[in-house]
Amino acid sequence: MSQPGAALFPLFLDLRGRRVLVVGGGEVAARKVAALLDSGAAVVVVAPAITAALAALAQANRLAHIPAAFAPEQLDGSWLVIAATDDDAVNRAVAAAAHARRLFINVVDDAELASAQLPARVQRGPLQIAISSGGASPMLARHLREQLETRLDEALGQLAGLLGELRGRIRMQLADLGQRRAFFERVLAGPAQSLLRRGDAMAARRAVEAELASRRASSAGRVALVGAGPGDPGLLTLRALRLLNEADVILHDRLVSDGVLALARRDARRIDVGKRVGGDHDATQQHIHALLIAHARAGRRVVRLKGGDPFVFGRGGEELEALREAGIDFEVVPGITAATACAAYAGIPLTHRTHAQSLHLLTAQAKDGDADHDWPALAKPHQTLVFYMGVQGLARLRDNLLTHGRAASTPVALVENGSRPQQRVVAGTLAQLPELAAAHAVRAPALLVVGEVAALATRLHWFGAPPLGGEHQRCPPDALARAA
Ligand code: SAH
Repeated sequence: MSQPGAALFPLFLDLRGRRVLVVGGGEVAARKVAALLDSGAAVVVVAPAITAALAALAQANRLAHIPAAFAPEQLDGSWLVIAATDDDAVNRAVAAAAHARRLFINVVDDAELASAQLPARVQRGPLQIAISSGGASPMLARHLREQLETRLDEALGQLAGLLGELRGRIRMQLADLGQRRAFFERVLAGPAQSLLRRGDAMAARRAVEAELASRRASSAGRVALVGAGPGDPGLLTLRALRLLNEADVILHDRLVSDGVLALARRDARRIDVGKRVGGDHDATQQHIHALLIAHARAGRRVVRLKGGDPFVFGRGGEELEALREAGIDFEVVPGITAATACAAYAGIPLTHRTHAQSLHLLTAQAKDGDADHDWPALAKPHQTLVFYMGVQGLARLRDNLLTHGRAASTPVALVENGSRPQQRVVAGTLAQLPELAAAHAVRAPALLVVGEVAALATRLHWFGAPPLGGEHQRCPPDALARAA
């Protein structure tokens, strides 16, 4: 009696020695009985007649047979019930009696009557994967099982068995969770599995034991400064994905998208450090340093996840300096920075043989307010300027460029939420820039591209909606002709 839409709760049952009542004695019942016996259940089969195979099992005392019609008192003492008759009325009666006693019941091929469903499963020794589509599509679940069957190494079961045998020793010798995790990673990366596949269980055991004895695992935690890219999870690096899957703690910014966070290890602790402590940048930064150091010292694997690339306007350098000073190990994983991501997803080549021979990454804000750039140099044509953090102060930025000689007709594009489903591109000319941003209510995170190449967005856009624009949607005709 599962409600449509409600997710089923997965559970693995220890049925050893526990009475399970199976109502029905045909082929379907026999298949369920075989699986139950594999789990060590004390199976009782109720049916006036049973198959020869079931009769043989009863004969050998592997199961008990009640040669009668179903009666509710047969449920007494049972932990679980399976109705596997081909008579709908009987199945209904069994289900009603089971529900009345609050016993979980599986009714074969009838999810409506059942309170428990048997999953499609893949088994490798003690290792099991149970798959359910919640009744939506058993075919899909079976399809997935077939795929997993072909993909999962047979030796995994033996490896699980071996680790199970050594479990007590592992827990004793590696008391710390971090140490154990590091040990398992080394075992999984080591030769044990391929030795098992080749049938050399002794050598595999020696390999695992040697790893256990080596105690190489240091309990020191470490920090990975990881670039999360602009938002689209497909733009993560493989290294970033791996670290996200191994992390104990993840400290992330506001800029990191939900899609990226969804790929992280489920039981990793997530800390949003995007909100400012008392509205103060520096206090926030100090607080982040303290958190990184504290978690690493506690032996945890810490991922400091930053939007884009950690070394591009990400204060990554400051964080590493604090870690080095505290003597904590770190690594840095680059990410796709907003400039290249937004350009790609807006159809703006940042350099172009005709239009731009250099690229400048700039911040529209500096430590003390207005950015102090070399405006005369930036005002020269045929170079692309990309401004980060530029939603405010666009009027000043335009004025600085115009005053120093950049043409009023220079194309510009604002890319808001680049690479995300809600991406918007607003294109126009430098002269219009602040009005354009206001007219379209452009909000952070947004990136500003200034330069002849920005005009190409109108023709080369491919992701999301075409650029919204000012008059230059009509685009300098010569720029387009040369771009073609
Ligand atoms: N380390 C980041 C930049 C952090 S500064 C990186 O390499 O991308 C924050 C600025 O980055 C924002 O104000 C915005 O200008 C830009 N930005 C980051 N992600 C963006 C996105 N998805 N779309 C548009 N701009 C983005």
